[in-house]
Order: sequence, then C-alpha cells, then structure tokens
Amino acid sequence: MSKRDFYEILGVSKSASKEEIKKAYRKLAIKYHPDKNPDDDQAEENFKEAAEAYEILSDENKRARYDQFGHQGMGGGFGGGGGAGGMNMDDIFNQFGDIFGGGGGGGFGGFGGGGGSRSRRVKGSNLRIKVKLSLEEIANGVSKKIKLNRLSNSSETKYNICNTCGGAGQVTRVTNTILGQMQTASTCPTCNGGGQSVSSRAKGSDQNGQLRQEVVETIEIPGGVEDGMQLSLRGKGNEGPFDGVSGDLIIVIEEAKHEHFHRDGQNLYYDLYLNFADVVLGTQIDIPTLDGKAKIKIAPGTQAGKLLRLKGKGLPSINSYGNGDLLVTVNVWTPKELSKEETTMIEKLKTSSNFIPNPEENENNFFSRMKDFFS
Ligand SMILES: [Zn+2]
Repeated sequence: MSKRDFYEILGVSKSASKEEIKKAYRKLAIKYHPDKNPDDDQAEENFKEAAEAYEILSDENKRARYDQFGHQGMGGGFGGGGGAGGMNMDDIFNQFGDIFGGGGGGGFGGFGGGGGSRSRRVKGSNLRIKVKLSLEEIANGVSKKIKLNRLSNSSETKYNICNTCGGAGQVTRVTNTILGQMQTASTCPTCNGGGQSVSSRAKGSDQNGQLRQEVVETIEIPGGVEDGMQLSLRGKGNEGPFDGVSGDLIIVIEEAKHEHFHRDGQNLYYDLYLNFADVVLGTQIDIPTLDGKAKIKIAPGTQAGKLLRLKGKGLPSINSYGNGDLLVTVNVWTPKELSKEETTMIEKLKTSSNFIPNPEENENNFFSRMKDFFS
C-alpha cells in the first residue's frame, strides 16, 4: 500500500511551523471526528490518517527522520495495521490532550513528546554528589562550584535508525488470549526508546556514543539545609543519549561537625564553661556565634545548668521565615588539682552556711529547664 505524504495529508508545506501543523491537524480532527461522522468509514480513515501524520510531524525527531527517510524511516512502528493507519483510537484521543490543551493534564505547555507513551526522548541518568557544608555556610546559604563527571553527547557520534524497532522506540508484541489477540507495546530494549542506534562512536565514548566530561557547575544552596537533605537540579545530570532529555543532578547535603556548636533543627547548642568564682560573683563573657561573637551577662549566683537563650542566633529554616536560637548551657568547671593554699581557702568556704546546697532555690531545676526549653 502506498501512503500519502504526511504534509499533504495535513495540507501544510514542508517548512510549516509547529503551530501551523497543530492548527491544521486540529481542523481536520474536528472535521473527521467520529462523533460527527457516525458510521462513516471514509471519515474514520481520514481521521486516523491525520492523526498519524500529526504524530510524526509534531515531534521534532520523528519529523526530521521522516524528512530524511520518508515512510520507510518510520519503520514497523506504524502502518502494521494494514489500511487502518496503525494508530488506534486510544492513541489518537491521548494525543488530544496536546491539541485541545487540557483534559486532566492540567495544561502543560510541552508540545514535543505528545502524550508521553510514545515519547522517544530517552532520559539521561541522574548524577548524585555529596556536598559538605559548614554550619556557617548553612546559616547564610552558599554558592558552591562543584566538579562533575557528566555523560555528554558527542557531535562525532553518528546514529542510525534502530533495527529492532525501526525507529519507533517501541516494540509491539501480539499474544493470543482467551479474549482474542492482545497487543502490548513496550520500550524497545535495543535503543531504550530512542529509536536510534549508534552507527559510529566518538573516540573513547561508551556504547551509546557518549563521553564522560568533567564539568564545573555552580550551585546555589539555600540557607537552612540539613544533613541528608537532597536538592534536585533538573536537567543538570547526565545527558540523555540520542539527544534525549538530561537527567537531574541530586545534591546530597552533608553537615560538617562544628567545633563549638551542636545542632538540633534550627537551634544551636553551646556548652559554656565558667569557673566557680565567675558564677558566684557574676561576669560578662564573649561566646562564639555563627557570625562572630556575642557578649552575655552571667548574673551573680548563677546555677550550673542554666540555659541562656540568644534569640535568632540559630539557623534559618529552608521552609519558613525566622531563625532558630542559640542556647547556651552554663557549666561550672570544677578544678581537679588544688594547691595547698587553694585547699585551705576552699575548706574555709565549706564551713559557711551559704555553701549548703538548696535545690528548692535553684531556678534551673529540671522542671524550669524544661519550661524554658519549650518556651
Ligand atoms: Zn529500537
């Protein structure tokens, strides 16, 4: 059977734009729609013919192949049905999601791949990379240059139409069931749906004709990320073979241990050690923060275990506004070795009634600590 030229079917020129092709097809689809032409075999034939022509011409890759090889280039993927044009009605109605812009699809603007099931653009694999960040970097967000070994397509690699699927990217299998013959389509195992095979590979390339290339990407990491978090950058992964779609770059966040702080969510904890005299008499002291230093006041008679809260000196959140706090725990350092003179002084203090512990008066007992913690 000889097929009519796809451009002729749609009534467009060989140089027609995507928009013109879409418009022409929409017109024919409405004209020959089976709902409008019940029991009209000729209309159904025209309807299918137009759908098939559109299926090819609306896809850049398929159109290029058709322009180059004509109907032969379309191989076994179509035309197998003898006269019926090869596309079934379901395929055609799937295509309408594109044409009439909508259905359940939620209005995605993409035009290239059609309804997805026949898309021939092979997706590249994702690249994963760990990025180690300091708390300071996490606090402010950071721009990082990272080196990647990315699989890239090479202009020296040349492609042929895949022998297995004839360029359709899919293979159909007919099985006999009790309900009759069933056709199942699956992605072509030879070309992974790309519809092409490698005819000559670039030097040093892999079986898909791709090369590993070292590239440097600058990535922006927002403030507030956490250890183990993954950020996904679309299209920054390995390129899809046969001019396919690039995979994603997955950034896995690793948090470096900090010399001063322990992190809990957005809050930071700092263990402050003071000597006995300072907690008894009170003092002022500098403590480290992520952006420098902060002066804090220790009131006379401060008990060990007191938790001081520096509002907003913690970390930002990746999801919301506002910073966490820096929580400072007051510890009292107990000297381990004393001189004779010190021992005499301490023993003298020991006899004072002020040195008998009175937990009732400790505002840092467990319950008030918890209260502070949850405030
Ligand atoms: Zn194939």
